[in-house]
Amino acid sequence: MSFHLKQVTRRFGNHTAVDSVNVEIPQGQMVGVIGRSGAGKSTLLRMINRLVDPSSGSIHFNDTEVSALKGAALRSWQRDCAMIFQQFNLVPRLDVLTNVMLGRLNHRSTALSLFNIFTNDERLMAIAALERLGIEHVAMQAAGTLSGGQQQRVAIARALMQSPKMVLADEPIASLDPLNAKIVMDALRDINEREGITVITNLHTLDTARNYCERIIGMSQGRVVFDGTPAELTAAAVTEIYGTDSQGSGIDETMTSTSINIPGAQLPARPVQQSAGPEPLALAGL
Ligand code: ADP
Repeated sequence: MSFHLKQVTRRFGNHTAVDSVNVEIPQGQMVGVIGRSGAGKSTLLRMINRLVDPSSGSIHFNDTEVSALKGAALRSWQRDCAMIFQQFNLVPRLDVLTNVMLGRLNHRSTALSLFNIFTNDERLMAIAALERLGIEHVAMQAAGTLSGGQQQRVAIARALMQSPKMVLADEPIASLDPLNAKIVMDALRDINEREGITVITNLHTLDTARNYCERIIGMSQGRVVFDGTPAELTAAAVTEIYGTDSQGSGIDETMTSTSINIPGAQLPARPVQQSAGPEPLALAGL
């Protein structure tokens, strides 16, 4: 299985936000997309799940032309690639469990969705997803009362409810403190490693991309200017992606650091490894 962007371009008026991007991603890769603000990262991600349509070029998943899908087939694709946002996009006044179950919306009839009627299986699946993320104890709390880190974990649990083939994360840790950033990135890595779900995540911090992603795509002014492993991302490549500062020096990597690796910091165990017994998501059919 693989996913392929062919000569994908997106223009907004006269401005080319994404410019002739060619990228092929085999199923199961963990990919970080980096670049300055305005480089086109978010537009690229949004085109993959068709929140934004390409101006030209095409997007393919195996034999399906994703960029040509319409109606039910388009909704099915959007279910296959779950999206996670910087600002979590939960419904703040609804409890966490309901927010997570909303991830099933595309799987069900409109009438059931309309009245927020969920089956017992869906409830069990949602609880299992929350357990996996280590936040089952807040299931009945209103989502808006949680910390940012907890809210992003709820958003990941909701994404898992879609049984996605791909998770697209648009700056998932940009609003989080370093410890919560680590918990969220660990959760994304775990989903990638255990289920073989492709993860494509925009990141504004280079060290996070280096630590978590096997492949890094660097964008500048809408174009892909780097595509390789963290080891291949040399200082020269970093300068090509981020440009130079006003004094003409190359960019210092620490400037884009989240300082996730705080020496000696007491980090919670990876939440997914806390529960004993059978794998909850496996039980829930995820
Ligand atoms: P990044 O995620 O790397 O910060 P974006 O993809 O958000 O970059 O934006 C790339 C460029 O496209 C920017 O110049 C931005 O202003 C422009 N852009 C993005 N979305 C729109 C839109 N809906 N309308 C007009 N311009 C847009």
